[in-house]
Amino acid sequence: LTLRSISNKNTTMTAHQLILKQRAELLAVLCGGGSAEPLDCVLDLLLACEVLVWEDYLSIRVLPEEQKAGLCFGKECAVVGKDRPDTATLTLLADRPVLVRKLRDNIDGALNALLTTGCFTIKDCDAVQLPVYTPSQQVRKLLDQVRFKGETAAKTLLQYLEQTETTRPNPEDKENHLSANCLLYQKKLRSSVAAQSHSLSTYGGTGRFSLDDIYTDGLLEVTDGSGETLTLGLEDVVGPLGTLNEDADTVLVSGEAGSGKSTLLQRLHLLWAREALLTNTFLLFPFSCRKLNAEHRELSLKELLFLHCCWPDRGQDEVFQFILDHPNLALFTFDGLDEFKQGFTDEERHCCPTKQVPIPVLLFNLLQGTLMKGVMKVATSRPQAVGPSLKRYLRKEVLLKGFSPGGIDCFVKKHHSDPAMARRVIESLQANTVLLSLCHIPVFCWIVTKCHQELLGGQDVIPQTITDVYLLVLQHFFQRKSPQSQGVLGKAWLEEHLDTVLKLGQLALEGLETSCYVFSGYELQRNGLKEQDVSLGFLIYCNDLSVTDCKRYEFLHITLQCFFAALYVVLNRNSDRSAVSRLFQSQYRQLSSLSQRCLGHCIDSSVEEVESHVTETPNLQITAQFVSGLLSQRHHNLLLECCPIAVRERKVKQVVKSLSKGMQRHFKSIPRPVEGEKKSMHAMPSFVWLIKCIYEMQDNSIAQETMAKLDVEHLKLTYCNIGPVECTALAYVLKYLRNPVGLQLDNNSVGDVGAEQLLPCLHICHSLYLRNNNISDEGIRKLLEKGMKCESFQKIALFNNNLTDACTQHFALLLKSKQNFLSLRLGNNNITSQGAEQLAEGLSYNQSLEFLGLWGNKIGDSGAEALAAALKNSTTLIWLSLVDNGVGSAGACALAKLISQSKTLEQLWLNKNCISREGVECLIEALKMNSSVKEVWLRGNNLSPEEEEELSKQESRLTF
Ligand code: ADP
Repeated sequence: LTLRSISNKNTTMTAHQLILKQRAELLAVLCGGGSAEPLDCVLDLLLACEVLVWEDYLSIRVLPEEQKAGLCFGKECAVVGKDRPDTATLTLLADRPVLVRKLRDNIDGALNALLTTGCFTIKDCDAVQLPVYTPSQQVRKLLDQVRFKGETAAKTLLQYLEQTETTRPNPEDKENHLSANCLLYQKKLRSSVAAQSHSLSTYGGTGRFSLDDIYTDGLLEVTDGSGETLTLGLEDVVGPLGTLNEDADTVLVSGEAGSGKSTLLQRLHLLWAREALLTNTFLLFPFSCRKLNAEHRELSLKELLFLHCCWPDRGQDEVFQFILDHPNLALFTFDGLDEFKQGFTDEERHCCPTKQVPIPVLLFNLLQGTLMKGVMKVATSRPQAVGPSLKRYLRKEVLLKGFSPGGIDCFVKKHHSDPAMARRVIESLQANTVLLSLCHIPVFCWIVTKCHQELLGGQDVIPQTITDVYLLVLQHFFQRKSPQSQGVLGKAWLEEHLDTVLKLGQLALEGLETSCYVFSGYELQRNGLKEQDVSLGFLIYCNDLSVTDCKRYEFLHITLQCFFAALYVVLNRNSDRSAVSRLFQSQYRQLSSLSQRCLGHCIDSSVEEVESHVTETPNLQITAQFVSGLLSQRHHNLLLECCPIAVRERKVKQVVKSLSKGMQRHFKSIPRPVEGEKKSMHAMPSFVWLIKCIYEMQDNSIAQETMAKLDVEHLKLTYCNIGPVECTALAYVLKYLRNPVGLQLDNNSVGDVGAEQLLPCLHICHSLYLRNNNISDEGIRKLLEKGMKCESFQKIALFNNNLTDACTQHFALLLKSKQNFLSLRLGNNNITSQGAEQLAEGLSYNQSLEFLGLWGNKIGDSGAEALAAALKNSTTLIWLSLVDNGVGSAGACALAKLISQSKTLEQLWLNKNCISREGVECLIEALKMNSSVKEVWLRGNNLSPEEEEELSKQESRLTF
């Protein structure tokens, strides 16, 4: 505003008025939040450009904070862009905003220089370094004092700055300046973090594996500003790659339950503790949100750090001051934001590090950066729990997508020290691709690998669903503790352990209802759980750094807690009759009103309905999925003695009804088609969940009945976190659609294994959109092998996958054998001239293809020539894109021949190539003989603006 008012006299009044008009907002920005920093920064700027005269500045400084904002900032006497000032004092003034930043980490050095030259006394130094000031405020005090002392002091400071510029300290020297207390604290923190992160809780007790032995890299992705997906390494999580908001310092790692978020953080912690990663981070403070839930006291930031992470044995204040002064050297991690009781809000601002406030206020202000700006934060959460209000404060969002196929192999090999056993497990997974797709989620991979004996030993039921997998682990744990330890459990094993299952189930369900994932010994006792129940291994001791006396327990994994809750819902004979329906309906209540009611009444209908919050939905959804699975006919025999048949039947009916109703809701949301457009359904968040529940039931007739009512031509499931597991469920259900659909799965993580899972529904897909899905040649080979035999299958879009020339032969075969195939889009892959030649071979036999897109490959001139020759006789091609393919004039001349012969081609896209005048002239000649072509796009080729103008005059259908 100031600059505007100065640079343009006519707008002076407007700027003034603007300030008056926005007075309230300006006040809030400058003085809100309780920090003097915003106002001080503005004062620095106004001083530097001389809008504010020194006397005004001094008078503002002595005023109480609350009055500062009401002041008018002097006269508009600044001259913008004038020469550098000629005195040292004025230079300091002009550079003030920069100096505040530069000197912040260097105050000691500057004061030292001023002290040794006699410009400052010890008293002056003390006055600058009063502990109540933040580092920036200390610099301002220093600058004010220097000005007061006069030109010599100013020169000394400038000289000092010059010296430090040329001999910028080596960051490694930083530690040399650190006090012994800080170093001692770092050592203590490192060793407690190392101890805490050394082994994985799922292997707790067995002592067999350290994190080093078993840790396997997961797939990490980030979408950058241009919408491109980048793959990250562990070291990039905190690094700059994929940063969307430079001002924010919270990185979110999001992924589904069991995708390995906690393990990833644990790995980061361990590597930091060993100084193998994050070497610029001096102090790392790990927090678990599920544990923070149990903290009911009001705490200051200092207490939070020291009580919940590590207590400094010496120099508490000094260590804390160090953290405040060097936010860039600290890192806070928050695991499981989705498990924090309270949903994120930014309503209450708090920025004072020493004031005690409730934990949610502290946590949310840290995440926003209101408190401890500059400290890097890494938080993990399931994607559903992150709303727009938090997204605003994110530096970037990193997606953790579980294991790659190679990762699964690697994990199995690490788990089994006997290579022969590892091979057998891998082979058995390869023979059961449904199970293999489940293994992309590390927690399932862990169970499957752990239960290999049950798996390889030939079960009655070959695991197909997550319920099967969790029943396997249940059986495994009971077997481990059974007296005839190597013996096989009897058929009625569930009934034998029913009492324990119900007690654990009740604890689990009560916990889910109240966002409670950590239990005290007292809570266990209250549920009747005894030492022998705990020793089964489903509950483990909390790995906790905080200072607390009592032992606390948690389920091995949140998904196991959900499984026990589901067992309780299914097996508890006393539950009220509508417990099941309510579990399914809770999703919708929540969507329609924010206050979702929780499951209190599942246990006792007399319990008051309590309000719950958004972050519980994913757990309830997983629980409902397990309930569907447990009530599947497949497990009828297992449940036979545990649950009266009539009760079971009633519950089955309730699930089926709930699923059917849920689907109806989606179908009702389908809008009427706009004229000329397809009838299309955009999946709502719970659609995939409902499909997964239907899959768990493994009942064809239910899938069939539900799908019979869906009448759409296009099903859109973009950005829905669809991985291989979801593909299995989708195919299982969608195969029963009455009429063919376009299935749009762009921007998910289908991968090769997922692509294979889709085969059962390919016959009902007229179009398959799989843009940006990590699919490679192998996945395509399997898809096309089936696709060739599917009469309805006519379109495929594979933009931005990992395809190479190795897949083009399969497309060639498809084109040859399917004379009703319409559209092939292969943009942004790695297809070269060789691949194009193979495609051409297929195209020369095809008389149906209308759209061919190869944007962003590398087919070059020879590729373009081959395609042009093959397409010359096409009587169907309408649209061809070879944008950004390194095509030159030779390629353009070949395409000109295609133009001269084609009667159908309407659009030719050749932007971003290296076609020169000669090539364009060929195209112009050809266009003279063609009336079907409407547009030829040639932007970004080797032509001067003059040539472009001249050539476009010759042929109006060319666009440059
Ligand atoms: P999330 O926090 O996403 O729910 P976890 O990190 O708790 O998932 O992972 C669940 C289990 O899966 C772990 O206890 C471990 O057994 C296994 N696991 C997860 N990630 C990895 C990994 N990167 N390497 C090895 N095992 C893993």
